[in-house]
Amino acid sequence: MPLDADFAFSQGSLSDYADCARRFELRYIQRLRYPALEVAQALEYERRTRQGARFHKLVQQHALGIPADILAQSLQDDAEVARWWQQYRARGSADLPPRRHAEIPLQTQLGGYRLLAKYDLLALEPGGAAIIVDWKTGARVPPRQSLARRMQTLVYRYVLARAGAHLYGAPIPPERIQMRYVYVAAAGERVSFDYSREQMQADEALLLTTIKAASAAKAYPLTPQESRCRFCSYRSLCGRGEAGDLAEFEFEEEEAQEEALSVDFADVEEVEF
Ligand code: SF4
Repeated sequence: MPLDADFAFSQGSLSDYADCARRFELRYIQRLRYPALEVAQALEYERRTRQGARFHKLVQQHALGIPADILAQSLQDDAEVARWWQQYRARGSADLPPRRHAEIPLQTQLGGYRLLAKYDLLALEPGGAAIIVDWKTGARVPPRQSLARRMQTLVYRYVLARAGAHLYGAPIPPERIQMRYVYVAAAGERVSFDYSREQMQADEALLLTTIKAASAAKAYPLTPQESRCRFCSYRSLCGRGEAGDLAEFEFEEEEAQEEALSVDFADVEEVEF
């Protein structure tokens, strides 16, 4: 089934295609919504989803100028989010460049399609560093190699290099870009990835290959790796068994953002060099 010409790829859709072509088809072509629970402990999952969204809202409000102390006062009903907020204040943002943009979307073109990224925070110093910060509220920090291969790491750096010039004041040299994951529920641990022209070329080739494969596919088969089905919301459509356990689930905030991506990006400014 061909994709619409205005289809927009994102790190979420590319990750889904790489994981399972069928999931990509169900979520982004058929646009089916969550027919099954993603993890076994549904109420706990919902609670953590709300906490993650609340934390990201705080970061956005702080970037817009609301003092951190004022925001902290609103957290007396949730000790866990209050702890994350302490980590954010202690480890999250003090050393970042001054020009900051929270919850900002950017897009570029690749392979004839739009490629989108929505950033938790961009911290820029014209002529200096361009740092992408992504806050994670999951307790487990994935292995560095796993994060390095993650589509989010590839897409976020690539889109910023291609489409961030209007924020930076000039085209951003890839060497100035850094992607930084901050795990506020894991003592504020950071995992950072620098960038380079060579890395950008390699990432572009991989992204282009994936976009071409996803857009030209004649069929979208189920993944043969059934372990990938345990945390997939489409299990009931594929006859792929029980939900996995929350304790093993690497909690991600990006899926909620993906919901926003499909409606927000029509008006996103695109500037390429
Ligand atoms: S349940 Fe498994 S096969 Fe079905 S869409 Fe999800 S990951 Fe793919």
